[in-house]
Amino acid sequence: MDLQILPLTERKPPIEDEASLVFGRTFTDRMFVMEYDTGRGWHSARIAPYAPFTLDPAALVLHYAQEIFEGLKAFRRPDGNIALFRPRDNIARFNRSARRLCMPPVDEDFFLDALKELIRLEADWVPRSEGTSLYIRPTMIATQPVLGVKPSDQYLCYIILSPVGPYYKGGFKPVRIWISDEYIRSAPGGTGEAKTGGNYAASLLAAREAAERGFDQVLWLDAVKRQYVEEVGSMNICFVYDDKIVTSPLHGTILDGITRRSILTLAKEMGLEIEERAMSIDEIMDGASNGRLSEAFGTGTAAVVSPVGQFTYRDRTVTLSNNQVGPLTMKFFEALTGIQYGRQPDPHDWVELL
Ligand SMILES: *Cc1c(COP(=O)(O)O)cnc(C)c1O
Repeated sequence: MDLQILPLTERKPPIEDEASLVFGRTFTDRMFVMEYDTGRGWHSARIAPYAPFTLDPAALVLHYAQEIFEGLKAFRRPDGNIALFRPRDNIARFNRSARRLCMPPVDEDFFLDALKELIRLEADWVPRSEGTSLYIRPTMIATQPVLGVKPSDQYLCYIILSPVGPYYKGGFKPVRIWISDEYIRSAPGGTGEAKTGGNYAASLLAAREAAERGFDQVLWLDAVKRQYVEEVGSMNICFVYDDKIVTSPLHGTILDGITRRSILTLAKEMGLEIEERAMSIDEIMDGASNGRLSEAFGTGTAAVVSPVGQFTYRDRTVTLSNNQVGPLTMKFFEALTGIQYGRQPDPHDWVELL
C-alpha cells in the first residue's frame, strides 16, 4: 500500500513552555489515517493535516464501542535523534486487541513505517527538555453506520501525536491507592487483556469515588474471589516482597504491559528473583506492616514507574517505604528512562531510531 502525504495548509503555534505541557492536550499538525472496507481491505493510507472526522451518528463505535488503541512514546536523545521504545511490541499488541474486538489487523511493517514517517514530518514537535516526550496514540474505530450488534464492515485507523511534559513535575511522588472490592476492571473471558475503550469507561466510576475519598488510583482485584491483585489504575503493578519482584500473571484479565515486560527483564539482569503470581490483599496489608512488603509501583508508558506510598483497604491504611520512593523503584525508573533517552546502552535493542 502507498502512503500519500498531503500538504499542510496551516501550522499550529509551536510549544512555548515544554515544562508546562499537560498530558494529552496538545496535538501536532499532522496525523496518519487509513480506511478499511470488507472486501477491499485497508486503503487510502495518508498523512494528512490533523483535523476532526465526520462520522455518521449511527457509526458502530458510537453505540457498541468497537474500538482499540495503543500508547507509546518517542524520545529526544542528547544527540538530537529521535527514538521509539519497543514500537513493534505495541503494534503486535494492537493486532491482538483487534482480534479480540473482531477488528481487522494492520500490516505491522507498513504501520511502523507510516508511524516513523509521521514522526519524521512532525520531528519539531518532539520536545527537548528533561523528561519530556512525544506520546503516540494509534487508534482504530468501527465506522459502519448500522445499529445491528455485529462487527463493522468499515473501519478508520489513525495515529495522533501529543507532546507531553515530564510526568513528575514536582519530583517523584508516591501515590495513595484505594483497594476496591466493589468494582472490578475485568473478568475471566472478558476484554481485560485488550486495550479497548470500554474497559476505561467501566473504570471511571471507581476512579471518581476513589478521588472523592482523596486517593490517586484504584487497585483492581480479581473478579472471582476479590482477593488477588490485578492492576492499578491503568498500569500494571509490581511488588517487592521478601526481596523478590512479584507481579500479576498474564491470565487474560490484565494488560500485557510493555513496561512490565521490560522491568521483568531488567530485574532478572539485576539478579532479582521474579514471581509472576497474584498477591493477595492480606499479603499487602500484613506485608506492609511486618516489613515483608517493602515497595510497590505501577508500571506503564505514561509514568514509566509510579511509586505507591499507601494502600487503603476498607478502613485500614498501610504505608510503604515511609511514603518515600523505594530504592528498587528508583533503580528501575533510572534504568528504563536511561535506555529510552539514550543515556544507557540498549543491549536488548528495545530502542528504534527514526
Ligand atoms: C496500557 C496499559 C498498561 C501498561 O502498558 P504499557 O505497555 O506498559 O504502557 C497497563 N494496564 C492497562 C490497563 C493499560 O491500558
